[in-house]
Amino acid sequence: MRLRTLEMALEGLEGFGRPDPRIEQYVTPAPLAARLLHHAHLLGDIEGKRVCDLGCGTGILACGAALLGAGRVTGVELDPDALAAAKRNAARLGAEITLVRGDVRDPGLVGGLGSFDTVVMNPPFGAQDPHADRPFVDAALALAPVVYGIFNAGSLPFLGAYTEGRAELGFAIAGTLPLKRTLPFHRREVVEIEVEVVRMRRLSG
Ligand code: SAH
Repeated sequence: MRLRTLEMALEGLEGFGRPDPRIEQYVTPAPLAARLLHHAHLLGDIEGKRVCDLGCGTGILACGAALLGAGRVTGVELDPDALAAAKRNAARLGAEITLVRGDVRDPGLVGGLGSFDTVVMNPPFGAQDPHADRPFVDAALALAPVVYGIFNAGSLPFLGAYTEGRAELGFAIAGTLPLKRTLPFHRREVVEIEVEVVRMRRLSG
């Protein structure tokens, strides 16, 4: 599937009904979601692979992975309303995904998910809770040898230090997240924040 075709398929998906600022619910825009998935696909990390979307929200990354021919896709999410939207989105696209309600910080949940080839995620950036992305990084590296995550631009050095000895990191793509004024504390209508997609490869041993 071409990048533009994937982007168009993801464009019309439903977002969060009532986004909750405490858990940083922002939908990844279709162009960025499509570029992340397309990039991962070109590197052989999607087609026929077991893919897990951590904090899948309304399911844009999970659905996109399924459209690109992932062998099996599992989305994990805390919020039941987001999961219901993800289910509707998957049905709309005819994408087969498994949805699991759970907390990424719960080692029991992560241990019970099985293993995957690739994790894709747009974790909380830590605007509310400074280290909110860390349990996502830990869970992702426990679940799969390859991880694609969206982080604030400039996160690579911090991520490198945090995953030292556990993963090899590479910058994958740059993008912006236009955060709409969906949350009461936002002062402007749209705030563009610079982000980067980081690819992590788990080091064995
Ligand atoms: N992956 C989606 C949503 C990104 S927003 C997308 O790309 O559009 C981050 C998501 O992580 C939100 O849906 C939020 O509800 C979820 N989340 C935050 N903390 C979580 C946790 N501890 N366990 C599971 N999901 C969590």
